[in-house]
Amino acid sequence: MKYALVTGGSRGIGRAICLKLADMGYPVVINYASNKAAAEETKQLAETKGVAAELLPFNVALPEEVETALNGWATAHPDDYIAVLVNNAGIRQDAIMALMQNEQWNEVIDTNLNGFFYVTRHLLKNMMTKRFGRIINIVSLSGLKGLPGQTNYSATKAAVIGATKALAQEVGARKVTVNAVAPGFIATDMTKDIDPAEMKRLIPLGRFGEPEEVAEVAGFLASEKAGYITGEVISINGGLYT
Ligand code: NAP
Repeated sequence: MKYALVTGGSRGIGRAICLKLADMGYPVVINYASNKAAAEETKQLAETKGVAAELLPFNVALPEEVETALNGWATAHPDDYIAVLVNNAGIRQDAIMALMQNEQWNEVIDTNLNGFFYVTRHLLKNMMTKRFGRIINIVSLSGLKGLPGQTNYSATKAAVIGATKALAQEVGARKVTVNAVAPGFIATDMTKDIDPAEMKRLIPLGRFGEPEEVAEVAGFLASEKAGYITGEVISINGGLYT
């Protein structure tokens, strides 16, 4: 059976993607770092769609934890594989570069960039052997345009965009597609410190996006119908930047 794994599936955009994939009939594996209560809620919401849902906590930034969790999942599921991977787990720790601490730089790189590498490398092998896979990387407007105060975050998202394009060429022959979705400002915990009134003036569509709107794009890229799209970055930002 084909499963979908969403990293950072407990809240925000990751939760909305879990529910979209559940709607599409995929059994979902919900990864999270520490917020078990939120992850349980996502699991229950996914189950109401009539699919299996399970929690798989691990810190994407720690390679040993990633390996242990994914090997454990594979042992418990000898007849299944993860066919859809959504690399969504991410953090921001904003500071102007002149004042940025090593920890702020390294933690954002470890989670947003290295986490993408550890999880994707592990799951790629099975996708290539089975000759079907969908990898969807949640990047950001910040990685396309660059945003001041986010040199660490912009660097990780731009790096994942580069990796998306390179990996798409590596694995296309095995019918594995690799794409990125670049949201602008989406209403989640990550943006709750940003004043919507101030931003609305800058966004042509005059509002923050909803996690469900990002999930629609991710769901399409995960579908069989998107089989001829690979190496792409799709923006969803209310017209803020193209
Ligand atoms: P969020 O509401 O802050 O949720 C972050 C999710 O990532 C949570 O599920 C969290 O798990 C998980 N996570 C964080 N660090 C992790 C780690 N080391 N290992 C495993 N899971 C980890 O964020 P969001 O706004 O939904 O953002 C989701 C993705 O979209 C991120 O990659 C973000 O960069 C990107 N994005 C967001 C926006 C936006 O405006 N919101 C715009 C562009 C791009 P816990 O619940 O356990 O903490």
